[in-house]
Amino acid sequence: MKNNRFLKAPSFLVRFLLLILFCPSAMAAPQSAPQAANTDHVIFIHCGTLIDEASNAPRHNVLVEIAGGKFRAVTNYTPDFAKPTGAAFIDLATETCLPGLIDTHTHVLLQGDQRPGQYDEQILKWSLPYRTIWGTQAARRALEYGFTTIRDLETEGAYYADVSIRDSIKQGLIPGPRMFVVTRALDVTGAYALLGYDPALKLPHGVQVVDGPDECRKAVREQIGNGADWIKVYADERVSTQNGVAHSIPTFTPEEFHAIVDETHRERHKVAAHAMGLEGVHSAVQAGVDTIEHGAYIADDDLKTMVAHGIWYVPTLYIFIYAQEIHQAAGFPGWEGGVEIHAATFHRALNAGVEIAFGTDVGGFEWTINPAKEFPLMVNYGMTPAQALHAATVSAAELLDMKDQIGSVEPGKFADLVAVSGNPLSDITVLERVNFVMKEGTVYKLPGAPNIH
Ligand SMILES: [Zn+2]
Repeated sequence: MKNNRFLKAPSFLVRFLLLILFCPSAMAAPQSAPQAANTDHVIFIHCGTLIDEASNAPRHNVLVEIAGGKFRAVTNYTPDFAKPTGAAFIDLATETCLPGLIDTHTHVLLQGDQRPGQYDEQILKWSLPYRTIWGTQAARRALEYGFTTIRDLETEGAYYADVSIRDSIKQGLIPGPRMFVVTRALDVTGAYALLGYDPALKLPHGVQVVDGPDECRKAVREQIGNGADWIKVYADERVSTQNGVAHSIPTFTPEEFHAIVDETHRERHKVAAHAMGLEGVHSAVQAGVDTIEHGAYIADDDLKTMVAHGIWYVPTLYIFIYAQEIHQAAGFPGWEGGVEIHAATFHRALNAGVEIAFGTDVGGFEWTINPAKEFPLMVNYGMTPAQALHAATVSAAELLDMKDQIGSVEPGKFADLVAVSGNPLSDITVLERVNFVMKEGTVYKLPGAPNIH
């Protein structure tokens, strides 16, 4: 079976034992399996450098104190520090610590659907339990890459499996990031895969198909009732490029779009809009969505509206480069000029002052590829490394309305902490090699720990 490589990964228990064998410094760390996390435990971490995302510059020789799964104090480390009896001490003196990373656009229930044929195969041939098992593996990988929080932007036909994965993580049944989920997403008849089969066949779709304002409103109620944290809509389809502009066909009418946004906001939730081309982005911005996903082309006027109304831009740069490579290698025509248009849009959005949050669309590409590959692209397209890191910490936390709980290393916030060797502010690619991960005070990865990939 082609997907059995995961079966060879050592179990969490085996890896836990290996951690103790190969990493002496880990002995003092809380080594319990995540489900047995002792949240009352007091932990001290010596960070050689700390980028806390709360102050302007990195700090050196910092002592981070954690209790009850939250940061309790951030002070200067001195060599005469003696940990109190019963507390744990983690030595990261040679590492750079930073807040847990946040990916605001993931798909744990997709396993590289951009590869030719994969989307249809996963929707048609994979059972819901099988897809969910893959989803749990994806969630664990996200955490091990250093993403302690994710917003998972729809199950692509796997119904409410994201709610189950989110809740299983929350309950400590499986390791994974803190998740915000959108469940099924919404699109109109005729616009979303599976398409192109014999019309006589009744086939599943990757979204909940809705038409007319009433169905839109009802689906929002249904999804929120079944556990959705956010609502996602597909604002456009059939994208094409012409003279440096990506064009698209908007899916929802203004009345339908209004019903979705109004109902979602009325229920105090938010709307994420997949929107690729000029027309689709415009319809989403006009409807008052909260985030624009992908946004390959955004008109200058819409960028201004986004700034004025606080609409976020989640560009997902890497997936387009990945898809281009995959499609061309398979002999399909690439998306002509698309990557360049996207890069130019990113640049214009940055200059216009649009709020940009880190998001990758991982799941579109395989979870064996580290989503942190997005960071160097954000830098290549115009951000400083500090801005790119900010997009994946403070900004992403703000997008999620979690700014007072995650995104920086400050007393009172959840103890989500990662560490890397090297300085991400001079070499952003070090974020692709996170070697320490803590979420809510529980350690999931330590320097020197065996890599499962
Ligand atoms: Zn996506």
